Amino acid sequence: MNRKKLTIYITIIIIFFTLFILYLWSMFESTETITTQRIQEITKVTETQIQSNLNYMAKELSLFLRANELDEETDIRQLTAKLDKLSTADTTYMLIAADGSTYNASGEKNHWKLDSSAIKWSSSNDFSIISVSSGGTAAPSVAIIVPQNEKSDYFLARTMTSEQFLTMLTDSTAITAETVILFDEWGNLICSNSDQTDQGPVYFSIVKEAVSYCFDRQEYTFHKITGTGKHCFYVSLAQPRGWFIGTNTTASGESSMMGLYSPSILILLGLILVLAAIVTLDIINDRDKKTTIEQISNVDRLTGLHNSLGMQDCFNQFQENHDLSHYHFIYMDIISFSRVNTMFGHNMGDILLCTISDVIRSHAKCGVRVNADHFTFLLGNSENMIADFEESLNHAIEAQLGSEYLQVIAFKFGIYPITTPKASFRDVYEGSLWALKDAKKIPIQNNVVYDNNLKQYMEMQKDIEVNMMHALSKDEFLVYIQPQFDMPGERCTRGETLIRWNSEFMGFLPPDKFIPVFENNGFIVETDFFMLSCALQLLSDRIASGKKPITLAVNQSKVTIAFPNYFERLKSTIEQYCVPLSYIELEITESTLENSWEIIVPLIHNVKRLGFSIAMDDFGSGFSSLNTLRILPIDILKIDKAFLQESDSSERCRTIIKNVVNMAKDLKIKVVCEGVETEGQLNFLKSIGCDIVQGFYYSKPLPAEDFVQTYLEAE
Ligand code: C2E
Ligand code: CA
Ligand code: CA
Repeated sequence: MNRKKLTIYITIIIIFFTLFILYLWSMFESTETITTQRIQEITKVTETQIQSNLNYMAKELSLFLRANELDEETDIRQLTAKLDKLSTADTTYMLIAADGSTYNASGEKNHWKLDSSAIKWSSSNDFSIISVSSGGTAAPSVAIIVPQNEKSDYFLARTMTSEQFLTMLTDSTAITAETVILFDEWGNLICSNSDQTDQGPVYFSIVKEAVSYCFDRQEYTFHKITGTGKHCFYVSLAQPRGWFIGTNTTASGESSMMGLYSPSILILLGLILVLAAIVTLDIINDRDKKTTIEQISNVDRLTGLHNSLGMQDCFNQFQENHDLSHYHFIYMDIISFSRVNTMFGHNMGDILLCTISDVIRSHAKCGVRVNADHFTFLLGNSENMIADFEESLNHAIEAQLGSEYLQVIAFKFGIYPITTPKASFRDVYEGSLWALKDAKKIPIQNNVVYDNNLKQYMEMQKDIEVNMMHALSKDEFLVYIQPQFDMPGERCTRGETLIRWNSEFMGFLPPDKFIPVFENNGFIVETDFFMLSCALQLLSDRIASGKKPITLAVNQSKVTIAFPNYFERLKSTIEQYCVPLSYIELEITESTLENSWEIIVPLIHNVKRLGFSIAMDDFGSGFSSLNTLRILPIDILKIDKAFLQESDSSERCRTIIKNVVNMAKDLKIKVVCEGVETEGQLNFLKSIGCDIVQGFYYSKPLPAEDFVQTYLEAE
């Protein structure tokens, strides 16, 4: 999953959880509001009901008075006797004086008094209620009081036990709970309709600013009510002052907190499932897309074979199910394929590639088009494996395109025989590539089989590449100089610098071992400039110490010359030394012009303008020697040593050398003949008027100091 998508998912999840928490919070909040509202409702209904019960009671008492014409009685003794007679087991009546004195049945004052202030206060209403206590341990009873008549100082009271009072108050109220409690302002229980109140803490709720609080009767503290369920509330009675009725009630129609959570949790789980499903589907989709993209990107669009990206996968998959020791890994190159494009057009080139790919598909396994005209595949072991395969190719091409195509192209095969059931792709691939490279060097052979020699060569090349980087800094490259002699005086006035590598790990190496590798990987640029700097330093030292400079030839590879910024690097190198550049001869070969001659030719002219002499090395070894002579500003011609080596036996070679020397003279070009090994060769060169000679006859290349010592200091 990509980073952008992941961010989106994380954001969605965060938003989702935030919303969910907000939702839960709002549920919680609204639950609390519902509970509070419910308690308020019940409280209101109950309060109204209790009030109406009280009114009813007072009215009943007034009616009773009127019915019994008690107001006409003036004698307290008669009145109390009459009241005593009217009293029943459930209802008792009592006479109370304005000062709170009470009277017994025989009209005498009781020894206990009521609180007169309460009577006065309550007399402002139609009726009043006071708590009556005869003192001692007797449970308080309640008196409902109405005035006896308007002028009288006496009041008539109906008394009852607190339990009777509680039953009467709660009769037909909204209180439905089992436990109803009458308690005073200190939370003290006065009475209850059940014994359960004494068991455990009892809470009474009050409602303040839309929030319910519970009063813990045992701890004497208030707790905020949260959630739903059983709640307590109380109703304050107007009188007796400070008395309350309380009860537990359930906020009906509300589910429990768990009940509230469970749908939310279900919704959460559902949403998580949906989200998980979306993410999973997306991942699967991504993977499918990736697989499709991988498949597409691993396939060569033109031929339908695997391309270089799919090559290794294909090989590894194949070896999982097959014994590789029955196969050869082949690296095939179409020689001169570009000519098909130029001669027959790109379309035909494409058809040719497709035709070849079809043959690979039908005859080989794990076919890959590595690049333009390079293919790899696995061929099953057979006696004439390559010949048969090539025949199939030729047949198909002839049938599809015509025999003229076979005259333009050829095939080269690098073959890696796999000897084990499983093999490393890298080894197999590299081995076949080396074999192909070798095959391309040999004109008449169309295939090379990878063997131990090639393996050693490959390993040597790898060692060179591993060690070359540090060789410069470790001073492992050495400058050798081979003297050159002017004719006919045979004086040494010049020399050719030749590189050697004294490697810590690989020993002493001649240039033909490592120069081709350096040319291949570009490191030759570094060593060529190193050699040039050494030559300049040597000359600079001689000039500084007042000694006569000599001419030094420095080899410049075609790779070095073609390197971008060659000219700039050349200039900045020579700027570091104060040496007349006429003492430096840059040796280039004909192959320098092989590629991009239209760029190289003006470059060489510019180099010459800097002051260097230009020597054409190995003249005659290439195919366009005369042409290079025509277009390049050559000062010195070095005849390829192969001519001289053959000159002993070949009159033809001698004739060529003689005529090249003559031609050079006419062109005012000096001739160096290298590879002089015998006196006979030297005499021949003298006889034809060769200017300069170089060869083992005089000396092998020597370490620079030895050369200076032997040929310069001695003089
Ligand atoms: P080259 O430039 O043609 O150098 C002459 C080669 O011929 C040298 O081989 C030299 O030792 C050899 N030689 C000289 N006289 C005789 C002789 O009488 N008989 C025989 N059989 N050989 C003789 P060396 O030093 O092994 O160099 C081989 C090649 O390596 C050089 O051929 C040159 O192409 C390349 N090379 C050497 N040093 C450098 C360098 O600094 N830069 C570049 N780019 N190439 C270099
Ligand atoms: Ca040379
Ligand atoms: Ca040469």
